[in-house]
Amino acid sequence: MDGIACLSVQELRGVGPKLAQKLADYGVRQLEDLLFHLPLRYQDRTRVTPIAAAREGMDVVIEGEVRAADVVFGRRRSLVARLQDGSGTLTLRFFHFSAAQKNNLQPGSRVRCFGQVRRGGSGLEMYHPEYRHLREDAGPVEEALTPVYPTTEGLGQAQWRKLCGQALGLLRRAPVQELLPPSKQYPYDLAAALQFLHAPPPDAPQELLRAGEHPAQMRLALEELVAHNLSLQRLREYQQRDGAPALPPRREDIAAFLATLPFQPTAAQQRVIAEIAADLARPVPMLRLVQGDVGSGKTLVAAAAALQAIGNGYQVAIMAPTELLAEQHWQNFHAWFEPLGVGMEWLSGRSRGARRNSALARIAGGEAALVIGTHALFQSDVAFSRLGLVIVDEQHRFGVHQRLALTEKAAPGEGRPHQLVMTATPIPRTLSMVAYADLDCSVIDELPPGRQPVQTALIDSDRRDEVVQRVAAACAAGRQAYWVCTLVEESDALQAQAAEATASELAAALPHLSVGLVHGRLKAAQKEQVMAAFKAGDIALLVATTVIEVGVDVPRASLMIIENPERLGLAQLHQLRGRVGRGSQASHCVLLYQNPLSATGKQRLGAMRESTDGFYIAEKDLQLRGPGEVLGTRQTGLMEFRIAELPGHAHLLPEVQRMAERIRADYPERIDPLIKRWTGAGERFAKV
Ligand code: ADP
Ligand code: MG
Repeated sequence: MDGIACLSVQELRGVGPKLAQKLADYGVRQLEDLLFHLPLRYQDRTRVTPIAAAREGMDVVIEGEVRAADVVFGRRRSLVARLQDGSGTLTLRFFHFSAAQKNNLQPGSRVRCFGQVRRGGSGLEMYHPEYRHLREDAGPVEEALTPVYPTTEGLGQAQWRKLCGQALGLLRRAPVQELLPPSKQYPYDLAAALQFLHAPPPDAPQELLRAGEHPAQMRLALEELVAHNLSLQRLREYQQRDGAPALPPRREDIAAFLATLPFQPTAAQQRVIAEIAADLARPVPMLRLVQGDVGSGKTLVAAAAALQAIGNGYQVAIMAPTELLAEQHWQNFHAWFEPLGVGMEWLSGRSRGARRNSALARIAGGEAALVIGTHALFQSDVAFSRLGLVIVDEQHRFGVHQRLALTEKAAPGEGRPHQLVMTATPIPRTLSMVAYADLDCSVIDELPPGRQPVQTALIDSDRRDEVVQRVAAACAAGRQAYWVCTLVEESDALQAQAAEATASELAAALPHLSVGLVHGRLKAAQKEQVMAAFKAGDIALLVATTVIEVGVDVPRASLMIIENPERLGLAQLHQLRGRVGRGSQASHCVLLYQNPLSATGKQRLGAMRESTDGFYIAEKDLQLRGPGEVLGTRQTGLMEFRIAELPGHAHLLPEVQRMAERIRADYPERIDPLIKRWTGAGERFAKV
């Protein structure tokens, strides 16, 4: 039934244990892995190009007679051969060559070579072409386009071509199993698609192939996206199969809480609060993603959810990606919930000793109804008494696995806690359909009333002094400002240094202002102190690294300077800028860029100036940088597809959903093989 797919690569000609090991290290074990190892691009060796028609930059096959071959001592010693056909001459140049090579490129011999045409000292040249002597029987040129495979050190193109060629030969005799139901829209069958992509005919439309838009590629992308969707659905079922505590709405609690706030929830907040309330009431774990632009008020929505769980006698864990953000949640929730008599605890990587032990005891004993912290909440010695709801803020920083780890902490027999995931970065719909297929989605599509959009200016860093004066004037007029330092290096230490230098420089230039500094290397207590001073208005200008990127909420700050914004992605810039414009006064953001800007740099910063709409900016980011960057999942591999590309293949998504549903309904036995084929034998969801 499964045809040849599961055959080990060892069965192929020329594959001994050593090569098999190399292939295995690269993830290629079975014939199927080879078949799905698709070329990056193609070379056209199907026809011979007359030398006169060859142009710089082209990869071409040429044939001709060697007229002269000499070792030349120029800047570098090289072997130079002149090749002539009926139409012109071209120089072959070898910087590394053997005596044998030199001897057999004799004048008068005929060769066929393939390489890239360049312009050199003597007109058109080829460096180190692949070449072959043409004797009486030259044999035909290639019948198909020549694939260029992705590879790794120690595995050459010739090897890949031989192996994939053999795999294709076997495929013709025993097709791989077709796992997608027939589709009118995408009629290519799997075997034909693979055949085509490994060895496209000479007239194959190379443009389409390069763009990933050939029907054969779309057929495979479709299958890959379907498999991905099914695996996330599987994850969802896995999480839901043990049930969850049903937590009916606590209307009076929530009304009493809302009555303590100085504002009314927006209609969008109310709607999302109601969606969550309905989920929590069911005996099945809620799996919900709340998306809302920066400043849309996600924290309030989280608070309402937390109250519902706590009112039912369950514990709630809120997890934030950074210490700073966790602290801020702590302050918010403390102010909101303390008066209501809710027991609270704090747990971060920096909680130590007696303080930590007492926190652990209060969490395990159930005295702490609300626990706020960072990754530290995952640690194995953290045990809850009755965990009913997990709230994860800024989801894109956490992987699926981390989320799962926390939900394993429910008490035995209680099923799993409900999950609420909140993202700060709006995610384009296309992307969230793929990345979060396991979650239901709520969108807070409205900002609290009275907000004024942040005005954004792009200013060349040559004019830095002017900007410093502008900050001085604004602060003198009673405004508060952020000055954000960015660095390409990921290192905390370097970032901190840069921010320190900037802070002392600004403090020297602006002696009348109180300048503060916050970065990732400060102790939690120091950070807290600085943030509190800034919040209280005792610091006018806060120099910061991108630690303030997510979530920090100081409504009175209304000016932000971002140095070297061209180093950051759009989503990150949008997050940063979202730190201002939170109050009712007009706010400004200055992007102090370094000239010259690259073309995409210009587009990115242009988009920031044009718009303050997080969804628009996220779409742009997706186009300019791809999904890994937008989701912040480059490291977790969540969005690494073999064939599918986003946003390029986004148009396939409606069909992906239809097809995934059809398979679940009519072909459930195909789900496992699909997941296995495309997501690497299920390693990622090994538990499932
Ligand atoms: P985010 O969605 O970025 O996490 P926050 O929850 O931090 O946003 O809220 C941003 C700011 O808006 C906070 O100061 C919060 O108190 C305030 N806020 C939230 N909801 C409302 C509302 N309905 N009306 C007025 N202000 C609100
Ligand atoms: Mg927030």
